[in-house]
Amino acid sequence: MAHFVIIGAGECGARAVFALRQKGFDGDITLVGSEPHAPYERPPLSKAGLAGKADPKFVAAEEAYEAGRIRLLTGMTASGLDAAAHTVALSDGGELAYDRLLLATGASARAFPNAPGASSRIRSLRTYQDAVTLRAALQPGKRLAVIGGGFIGLEVAATARQLGADVIIVEGLERVLKRAVPEDIARHIAERHRAEGVDLRCGVSIESLAEQDGKAVIRLSCDEVIEADLALVGIGARPNTALAEAAGLVIDNGIAVDDRLRTSAPDIFAAGDCCSFPLALYGGRRVRLESWRNAQEQGALAAANMLGADEPVSAVPWFWSDQYDMTLQISGLADGAVTHLRRDLAEGAFILFHLDAQGRLIAASGIGPGNAVARDIRLAEMLIAARAHPDPAALTASNVKLKTLLAA
Ligand SMILES: Cc1cc2nc3c(=O)[nH]c(=O)nc-3n(C[C@H](O)[C@H](O)[C@H](O)COP(=O)(O)OP(=O)(O)OC[C@H]3O[C@@H](n4cnc5c(N)ncnc54)[C@H](O)[C@@H]3O)c2cc1C
Repeated sequence: MAHFVIIGAGECGARAVFALRQKGFDGDITLVGSEPHAPYERPPLSKAGLAGKADPKFVAAEEAYEAGRIRLLTGMTASGLDAAAHTVALSDGGELAYDRLLLATGASARAFPNAPGASSRIRSLRTYQDAVTLRAALQPGKRLAVIGGGFIGLEVAATARQLGADVIIVEGLERVLKRAVPEDIARHIAERHRAEGVDLRCGVSIESLAEQDGKAVIRLSCDEVIEADLALVGIGARPNTALAEAAGLVIDNGIAVDDRLRTSAPDIFAAGDCCSFPLALYGGRRVRLESWRNAQEQGALAAANMLGADEPVSAVPWFWSDQYDMTLQISGLADGAVTHLRRDLAEGAFILFHLDAQGRLIAASGIGPGNAVARDIRLAEMLIAARAHPDPAALTASNVKLKTLLAA
């Protein structure tokens, strides 16, 4: 009987194993994950899940693995991969032989350069265990220093303020979310954080970060010293490629795959945060996405292609972030845009449409309370997928329904 092995029991790996069964695969399936838990959702870890005391939000109930005849090995790391022999070495000394393999190893939080490795006062956030540790510092009277004005840092800052902790954010660039969102949206977010009492400093460079006398101590280049009960390092993530690299697979900003999610080795696929892939919608440009929906979609697509479907990646990238009562949604890839058109919606919400030099809509980013931008972002996504060149005047006119542009 064929044996399919999935390394990485995160969002992507979990979606892949269930998709294999849904698509009729009847062979053996083994899902191997380093963490002690069954696959769980990471997005709540910086939002409501960080504020509450709940268990992880599992992708599927334990019984679903049993019912699907999925062998789930938690607390187990794949420590070696022999692509020629089609075997995976495990941290308990065991070995798995596979017919097809999926690498869904995800990403890890980037560490601050030259900071102490295992400090109780200097932490990052990637796992449920990280969130449990961080939670203890988010109380009235405690001070949290967030290093980096990226999505995770900003979401944790919002949650911390809601829990009554003092928060300072230190960002090296001149504004938050510099690589992720246009200036208008970044300004809107920064203003809200300041209004909520966050001490947000941009364009500040850090000389050193250390733990001293039970505090996290951040020394700035301007000689100012910031002390906090905990420093959260939120300076991005790096793809987990060590296993693939040691096995000789091609690496290019992640495990390099083709548009069918095939790596450079036969019978090995990769998907989710750990891989980079060519995106036909953007001229075949190689991208790596760190996004929940991408991990889900690629998990399902990898499963289909492991079964021989031969389907290309075609989804439009999509990402969301929740901070306070605001939800930000981004569809498409905005770099390469030369025109940014604003459409105002109800309740102070707005959307920016990003067009390339030929007037093609390549991305849309919107922010507002709750679900205020969801429907229009969804329609924008359909326009992006259709490679539409919408009338700029219609995009900005709030009274023109985006649906009509789709019909056009
Ligand atoms: C705090 C936080 C908040 C987020 N919020 C959002 C959000 O609001 N919106 C959004 O779109 N995205 C968000 N994301 C991103 C989203 O969660 C990720 O894109 C998604 O989890 C990626 O799934 P993945 O399965 O590819 O990787 P991961 O979730 O990283 O899972 C990979 C798993 O593989 C395991 N692993 C790695 N190497 C091995 C090995 N050799 N052997 C065995 N196991 C191994 C890892 O331990 C991990 O459990 C957030 C992420 C974090 C951390």
